[in-house]
Amino acid sequence: GAKANYAAMPEPNTNPDILYTGLFINNEWHKSKSGKTFETINPATEKSIAEIQCAGKDDVNLAVQAARNAFKLGSPWRRMDASQRGVLINRLADLMERDIVYLASLETLDNGKPFAMSYNVDLPMSIKNLRYFAGWADKNHGKTIPMDGDFFAYTRHEPVGVCAQIIPWNFPILMMAWKLGPALATGNTIVLKPAEQTSLTALYIAQLVKEAGFPEGVVNVLPGFGDTGAALANHTDVDKVAFTGSTEVGKLIQQASGNTNLKRVTLELGGKSPNIVLADSDMSYAVETSHFGLFFNMGQCCCAGSRTFVEDKIYDEFVERSAERAKKRTVGNPFDLNVEQGPQVNEEQMNKILGLIDTGKKQGAKLVAGGNRPQGLPGYFVEPTVFANVNDDMTIAREEIFGPVQQIIRFKKLDEVIERANNSDYGLAAAVFTKDIDKANYIVQGLRAGTVWVNTYNALCAQVPFGGYKMSGHGRENGEYALQNYTEVKSVIVKLAQKNS
Ligand code: NAD
Repeated sequence: GAKANYAAMPEPNTNPDILYTGLFINNEWHKSKSGKTFETINPATEKSIAEIQCAGKDDVNLAVQAARNAFKLGSPWRRMDASQRGVLINRLADLMERDIVYLASLETLDNGKPFAMSYNVDLPMSIKNLRYFAGWADKNHGKTIPMDGDFFAYTRHEPVGVCAQIIPWNFPILMMAWKLGPALATGNTIVLKPAEQTSLTALYIAQLVKEAGFPEGVVNVLPGFGDTGAALANHTDVDKVAFTGSTEVGKLIQQASGNTNLKRVTLELGGKSPNIVLADSDMSYAVETSHFGLFFNMGQCCCAGSRTFVEDKIYDEFVERSAERAKKRTVGNPFDLNVEQGPQVNEEQMNKILGLIDTGKKQGAKLVAGGNRPQGLPGYFVEPTVFANVNDDMTIAREEIFGPVQQIIRFKKLDEVIERANNSDYGLAAAVFTKDIDKANYIVQGLRAGTVWVNTYNALCAQVPFGGYKMSGHGRENGEYALQNYTEVKSVIVKLAQKNS
């Protein structure tokens, strides 16, 4: 089980104190102007955890104004050395490390993901991400350019300005870190809106931002629903919006930009990622890694390998072994260190998944594992589910399920599978399993996706860019490329009395 792999894991705090439920503006806690609040629910028990202040339009205006003030010429943030921005980001990472058990516990309580994952994956990856971007703070320099004529030309990589960041509920802390790191390293100011299902860890981290010593107004956090996000996306004093979530809302964000001030937009949206298993691959390894590639985080991953294409010759055995593996997956209390799978994030997501499972059955796919809510368990759980005999045009092979439901699809030829893999509106990630390097390279180059894994899945890291082709979004997070999302390039041309080479 999970615990055996993580011998040094501390006991979780199953009843973490809820310290912050307000709006974080100008390094202070506020109530919403309208007085509106909302409940956040523990998805493992269906019980309310806390009442959270709900940011409305007036609060959005205040937060944007705070971020604008913090970005003014001559402000402490604008005057700060780039290296010092890196120091502050590292301090934030230090504080998250100090509070790692608390934060991982709070994440598990609010989101439902197993503590073994919050503690061993979400928190360490988030901390590493911040440290990676802290290192970039004083290294993102421009160029001097040999321009024609008696001129001296150089470029500056300047911050874009006030950035709205709207994030989802599947990796609440990690998505916050992915957004804060590059934006702060490059000197922007921020209004971040966490997902309404999972606000608590973002609010706690806001307090750590203050403790780390960031000047007031540099980071503001506004809990709220879609209309709070829409108010940010439509705000004419916001210079950029970065969004992670559904493709449907991604389109609205881009429209909002077009309808208002053409604010910069970067989007990280959905996927229906193909995972291609060739007959020559190591069967046990491919089954296990494909299982992980789909079921990790209760299937709530934008890059989930939700179309598992398996070569005809090994198809039946692969299906049988995948079903066996899914039936062994341990489901239950996410604070139990031996549990692999917790609940889905909320009732709505659970019902959506159960509905898609139904559609799969009705359209003729063969259910070989799971398919239901587990009996006698409160919480929004869905059994680990596997479908065989899935065709490309079935709804479960086309729509993002965002749940623990694996589709195993048969293929015969390489060219055929590349075309079928690319036959999707999405292009976030893909994978290929084979021992033949020529086949691997051919498939890698044929796939239209922002990330292609070879003989692995879900290998993500701060240093390597991540983002989508097609309707999976645009822009890249992580790595050096992420800096471009948060900088404007300014060309400066200076007249010289006389240029010499
Ligand atoms: P969503 O896109 O509605 O929500 C993501 C974020 O956007 C949340 O903070 C939400 O409050 C905000 N938001 C919602 N409507 C908005 C609007 N009109 N303007 C601005 N912001 C808005 O996602 P969801 O409803 O939580 O989940 C629906 C589906 O989205 C899931 O089933 C899944 O397919 C997909 N999803 C993808 C990711 C991802 O990482 N790519 C993450 C979560 C959900």
